[in-house]
Amino acid sequence: MNLILLGAPGAGKGTQAEIISEALNIPQISTGDILRRAIKDGTETGLKAKSYIDAGKLVPDEVMIDIVRERLTMDDCKGGYILDGFPRTVPQAEALDTFARTDAVIELAVDDQVLVERLSGRRVCLKCGATYHVSMLGDQTCCEKCGEELVLREDDRAETVLNRLKVYHEQTAPLIDYYEKRGLLHAVAGDQGIEGTFEAIMRLIKEKA
Ligand code: ADP
Ligand code: ADP
Ligand code: ZN
Repeated sequence: MNLILLGAPGAGKGTQAEIISEALNIPQISTGDILRRAIKDGTETGLKAKSYIDAGKLVPDEVMIDIVRERLTMDDCKGGYILDGFPRTVPQAEALDTFARTDAVIELAVDDQVLVERLSGRRVCLKCGATYHVSMLGDQTCCEKCGEELVLREDDRAETVLNRLKVYHEQTAPLIDYYEKRGLLHAVAGDQGIEGTFEAIMRLIKEKA
């Protein structure tokens, strides 16, 4: 099944994509993780993307479309995949429609106030992409999966977060309507805890399968 997770920064896309990926044994394709890895590795794409990410702006559509088009041709996508963080604009969604079939779009709905709190407490592993929240970490400072030191993302600082939420409402939220019109949209409350949200998503997926 080819799934898209749609939602504001902090809605829980990465967290859910990770566990859905394990449950369904299909890859999680997180464009944010791909970009952060490119920056860490100092690639050309990374250099291009960095200033946009740091400012809380979207990386240009053509860069993102090329990355995803190429990623979806890889063998591990043949049995389905979960897109986390793409598409983020209507042109990206239109481009995706030209090279891939989408089976369902899951919108994680969460109030802005909750998002700000989640993002300021988010800690990530830049090596494997795992995501945590300070409220669940206790005195743990390293990634449970790979041992790397956990960090606060530069763009999760308060100044940048408000900008990202604005960008979400202006440029990404129109996709809700885009997929609604195509009969693909399923809204799930994203404020019900990680496990409850996961169960709601799995129920939807089973109905679709
Ligand atoms: P979050 O999970 O908090 O929504 P992501 O990790 O998905 O954030 O993305 C981080 C940043 O990477 C975005 O703010 C944006 O600058 C860039 N980015 C990721 N995916 C896309 C995309 N599809 N289009 C444009 N920019 C993107
Ligand atoms: P996104 O990928 O949509 O930006 P993340 O999955 O990275 O969002 O989650 C943002 C932060 O909120 C992380 O610190 C994560 O641990 C936490 N979080 C995710 N889902 C939930 C939830 N259902 N309830 C409470 N906290 C959550
Ligand atoms: Zn890790």
